[in-house]
Amino acid sequence: MTETVLFTDAAVLDTAAGELVPGQRVLVRGGTIDAVGPDLEAPGGARVLDLAGKTLMPGLIDCHAHVNAHTANLAGLADDSPAYVALKAAKEMREMLHRGFTTVRDPGGADFGLREALDEGVVEGPRLYFGGKALSQTGGHGDGRPRGRSVREDHQCCPDLSTVCDGVDGVRRAAREQLRTGAHHVKVMLSGGVASPTDRIDSTQFSLEEIRAIVEETEAANRYVAGHAYTARAVNRGLAAGVRSIEHGNLIDESSVELFLEHDAFLVPTLVTYERMAAEGAEHGLPAASLAKNPIVLEAGLRALELAHRAGVNICYGSDLLGGMRRHQLQEFTIRGAVLPAADVIRSATVTAARLLGEAGRLGQILPGALADLLVVDGDPLRDLAVLTDPEANLRLVMQGGDVKADRLGSPGRD
Ligand code: ZN
Ligand code: ZN
Repeated sequence: MTETVLFTDAAVLDTAAGELVPGQRVLVRGGTIDAVGPDLEAPGGARVLDLAGKTLMPGLIDCHAHVNAHTANLAGLADDSPAYVALKAAKEMREMLHRGFTTVRDPGGADFGLREALDEGVVEGPRLYFGGKALSQTGGHGDGRPRGRSVREDHQCCPDLSTVCDGVDGVRRAAREQLRTGAHHVKVMLSGGVASPTDRIDSTQFSLEEIRAIVEETEAANRYVAGHAYTARAVNRGLAAGVRSIEHGNLIDESSVELFLEHDAFLVPTLVTYERMAAEGAEHGLPAASLAKNPIVLEAGLRALELAHRAGVNICYGSDLLGGMRRHQLQEFTIRGAVLPAADVIRSATVTAARLLGEAGRLGQILPGALADLLVVDGDPLRDLAVLTDPEANLRLVMQGGDVKADRLGSPGRD
């Protein structure tokens, strides 16, 4: 049973408008936001929480996080015990929630089992929107084999992030396999990547026919396709084929921006992962070949973000961190905040992210009828995003579906 809570004297962060509305009361009942206004009365039995001087905001949404990636050596993940990977994921998901991420989209790795365990309350973590295994062509970004190995074990039980499939029939089947498990989206590798041993960043992957087949299968299930891609060439062929969200997009150009706008598609930059891979990738298991590829996308990423932002592209928050580097999940705020207005950065992790997930009005905003996923922070994140990036100091309360998951309202300062 979730309790009834009335927040009083709150400065409510309106993520859509990008402004703080002072003196508000917010009533939470039955796991959702029941009412918002200056004069609400506390119903009988309600717990009243005074938020004078504090900000009440929607829980954060990370649209690109790999809960299973406990190491940056992704190729080795398939050899781990699924039980081990799941338990490590449980630990990481709890930490994500306590950073303020009440929702996470996992584009590769997380499956229906983790989602079920979260729904049943077996483990604590963000609401999980999973894609199952990402679809990769042979030799593509999801094919972790070294050059000398011809055999690949593709089994549902191998806890790696991808499955390898080729040909229109093969990719259709792979998409259907993910969708039958309840995947919220299908992830497809449209170009080479950093953490894959044998492909080039500037390659395109899958034929147009294969991409179209994946989009067709996914749309038939009323789901959408998320595509990993860096270059304008790879991004553009994905967008033209109906891919709805582009992951990374570090090397896009003006022609890509036009396609994003034309298709009302979403860009999910993940700048923090390249920064951290450069700084500490080696110690977290990132192979040398991947370290060598990283600078190609690191420098271009900020320019891509600015280009997309200026044009009004839908932009979502993504971290994409691997292994022990995931502790920097909030640092994407810092990186983006250096070039974009804080209100826009916050929008990417709330209201725009909710739209990508198909949860507009349910997540990412404080509105009657929305799920009660809420954070209480000290200070005004619109003035200073650092309010969000140091949860130890500033995050006072985490509520998810009306349940209080972390409560440090009573104690001033660190505890
Ligand atoms: Zn990727
Ligand atoms: Zn990723």
